[in-house]
Amino acid sequence: MTKLRNDLNFSGGPGALPETVLQQVQQAILALPETGLSVLGMSHRSDWFAAVVEECENNIRTLLGLDKHYHVLLLQGGATQQFSMIPMTLLQNQTAPADYIHSGYWSGKSIHEAQKEGGIRTVWSGASSGFTHLPSDSELNFTANAPYLHYVSNETVEGLQFHRLLGHDRVPRICDMSSDFLSRPIEADKFSMIYAHAQKNMGPAGVTIVVMRDDLLEGIPTQHFAGMFDYRNHIQAHSNFNTPPVFAIYVVLLVTRWLLNDIGGLEKMALINQQKAETLYRCLDDSNGFYAGRAATADRSLMNVSFKLATPALEKKILHESAQAGFSGLSGHRSTGGLRASIYNGLTLGAVEQLVAFMQRFQKNA
Ligand SMILES: *Cc1c(COP(=O)(O)O)cnc(C)c1O
Repeated sequence: MTKLRNDLNFSGGPGALPETVLQQVQQAILALPETGLSVLGMSHRSDWFAAVVEECENNIRTLLGLDKHYHVLLLQGGATQQFSMIPMTLLQNQTAPADYIHSGYWSGKSIHEAQKEGGIRTVWSGASSGFTHLPSDSELNFTANAPYLHYVSNETVEGLQFHRLLGHDRVPRICDMSSDFLSRPIEADKFSMIYAHAQKNMGPAGVTIVVMRDDLLEGIPTQHFAGMFDYRNHIQAHSNFNTPPVFAIYVVLLVTRWLLNDIGGLEKMALINQQKAETLYRCLDDSNGFYAGRAATADRSLMNVSFKLATPALEKKILHESAQAGFSGLSGHRSTGGLRASIYNGLTLGAVEQLVAFMQRFQKNA
């Protein structure tokens, strides 16, 4: 097998993590500086872990500017479990349907799960146009008394990202931000719930961050829920309702520290992410169609750049040659084919510049 380079990991998920974080993780696996024990053997009932959870929550509060009305939960089961938990909790005894926007692969999954739990309405679907663009405001006719609106801020597979807020303030907004959480500043106080698993932008798989405004659960009868599926249990237990993934949460803490202290917050992170995306999209746009971007220009994702080459043979060739040069994670999602370069927070501008140089060389020699 050819040797891949960790700094050139463009995988759609699990995503690349900053090198300084990996170095701290390496040390923590042997012995945490604070406790002398390996992080893998640390008790979830220890004072050390309580402090990790508290600092992690506080860092997310600071980064997003959350006020005291929000809970920050660290849950398991990935974003997929949230696809079910949200409608299970919020569609009980509702007459009006919840609104869902079908903008791509992952929102499609969320709709599939929600339909099993109650009434929902698909406000808009990009299926007929192959999920190559997002809706304009005039195409979105929301249900006035919906229990909530659900959408995915960044469609990871297709490389489509909403660059504006959707919905009305009178209907609770719920957003799956799994693939662009903490990549840019957001108007967090406009959302009733935001969720994101860690493994795209924040850490290893195993932990899912849920930010929830305290009024979302008001008046919801959840007594009959299985314990693990009741948000209230997790709120009451401070994300320690059963054994949490201590290691994954610790890595997320390190990433939030990196965002705050090394990067300097989400405004700065967003600037870097914009530069990375511009560099890569310029390469596509300057290629005379050799590299054909998938997403409509206005809806291009700053996190996932999906594109095609003229033939499957050429795509196979570039994947092969790029791997020989140390690049990885560039093949498109199994549902769409083509190529995809994921440029999450942990991936540097330098790595993007190396990819662009490689792509330009490949085009010249093709
Ligand atoms: C990857 C992804 C998911 C799937 O998350 P799991 O943690 O595997 O359940 C859901 N939503 C979005 C937007 C994703 O990118």
